Amino acid sequence: MPESSDLHDVTIIGGGPTGLFAAYYAGFRGLTCKIIDSLPELGGQLTAAYPEKYIYDVAGFPKILAKDLVRNLVEQAMPCGPTVRLGESVQKLASAGGEHLRVLTDRAEHWSRVLIITTGLGMYTPRRLRGSESFEGKGLYYTVTRTDEFLGKEILIIGGGDSAVDWALHLEQVASGITLIHRREQFRAHEENVRRLLNSTVTVKLSCRAKELRGEAHVREAVIVNTTTTAEEVLRVDAVLACLGFSSDLGPMADWGLELEGNDAIRVNTKMETNIAGIYAAGDVTAFPGKVKLIATGFGEAATAVNNSAHYINPGMKVFPGYSTTIMKQRERKKTKHDAPA
Ligand SMILES: Cc1cc2nc3c(=O)[nH]c(=O)nc-3n(C[C@H](O)[C@H](O)[C@H](O)COP(=O)(O)OP(=O)(O)OC[C@H]3O[C@@H](n4cnc5c(N)ncnc54)[C@H](O)[C@@H]3O)c2cc1C
Repeated sequence: MPESSDLHDVTIIGGGPTGLFAAYYAGFRGLTCKIIDSLPELGGQLTAAYPEKYIYDVAGFPKILAKDLVRNLVEQAMPCGPTVRLGESVQKLASAGGEHLRVLTDRAEHWSRVLIITTGLGMYTPRRLRGSESFEGKGLYYTVTRTDEFLGKEILIIGGGDSAVDWALHLEQVASGITLIHRREQFRAHEENVRRLLNSTVTVKLSCRAKELRGEAHVREAVIVNTTTTAEEVLRVDAVLACLGFSSDLGPMADWGLELEGNDAIRVNTKMETNIAGIYAAGDVTAFPGKVKLIATGFGEAATAVNNSAHYINPGMKVFPGYSTTIMKQRERKKTKHDAPA
């Protein structure tokens, strides 16, 4: 049995936007909460894949940088003091079915009354540029975490999806030159952005793939091949951004006995309950009829999961939390009364 200080009401697995909002809600419901994430920073895909991009479809924000949305979510979640464990990957469900759930990570064991799985795309890893792994950290990138690292550089972008096209348009403002290659004739990216790309200063080469990167301490050249003519060309480059997509899977959670859809989504009901008592899920990781994978929908699912968890932990607690406008005012009044000198 856990020490009471080790037992949390709610343990959230995954500190992306959904997990962070769930942490806020847990605090709002007066539940003790822990967030565990395998990455070294909070924010999920927003921090790992596109911190410098604007998001346009989060309610209440006409446009907001992904990293700023994460900063706001953290600011909103932290006042209730959730325990945060970063760089720790959840592996095993060691006990379920009793009053407490026990999960094992690669570093520790954690006890909880309820688990909320918000692992998004799961173990989220960029597809690597095969044969060029030695240039990682030497000019070969899989995402952009700081735009200024590309200032004044000659950049080769590889890929034909949204990420490749978006980054080309974004980095055009700071790079000295950009070439984008794509192995097919057609882009997979949003039409409007492809149109903007074709009217930009970016040099676009279709039916081309990267054959080899060259350089010693740093990438200096890229050999590209035309897949139709087999003609080769050597480009001088300072940075290569390979946008080849991400692979994802549930990892060890696939063996927990959860009802799955495909190999990367967990089936939930309208309360965001999984088939295992006390285990809820929310955000990109869930599957249900009509599911839409967006930050906005993840927020709603997080609130549903936490409020139903509160009622599961303590059936005396209502599922409906009450309005924050009213409850926070009452709490502030109580605090002022308590803090006032006698
Ligand atoms: C380039 C790009 C642009 C996008 N633009 C938009 C947009 O404009 N609007 C929009 O609504 N959505 C957008 N999205 C999608 C959006 O980012 C996702 O819908 C959102 O991040 C899902 O949030 P989440 O918290 O459910 O999961 P995630 O953000 O994926 O976070 C899950 C977290 O769980 C952690 N985790 C996974 N497995 C484990 C484990 N076993 N142990 C511990 N931790 C684990 C991961 O490390 C990760 O931090 C975009 C995505 C990409 C890639």
